[in-house]
Amino acid sequence: MEARRYRCSACGNLTRFDVTIARRTRAFHHFTVGGVLEVEEVEVLDERVESVECRWCESPDHVIEVDAEQADADASGTVTPDA
Ligand SMILES: [Zn+2]
Repeated sequence: MEARRYRCSACGNLTRFDVTIARRTRAFHHFTVGGVLEVEEVEVLDERVESVECRWCESPDHVIEVDAEQADADASGTVTPDA
């Protein structure tokens, strides 16, 4: 799964965000005889991004979602295809 990328249009930040996500998951809870839990096979059933705040200017209002290619282009100034 491709991670969402964000950009703050206020300060240009591309890399630091506080992201609040509501996530509903189903998972295999595997207990040892001693009761130690190991969570395995986590499946995300539903995921909703509630807020994305810029870490630099702490603005939730100017953060926009961009695709990874666009974010890379913004970061480098030129579009460079990944090998
Ligand atoms: Zn910002």
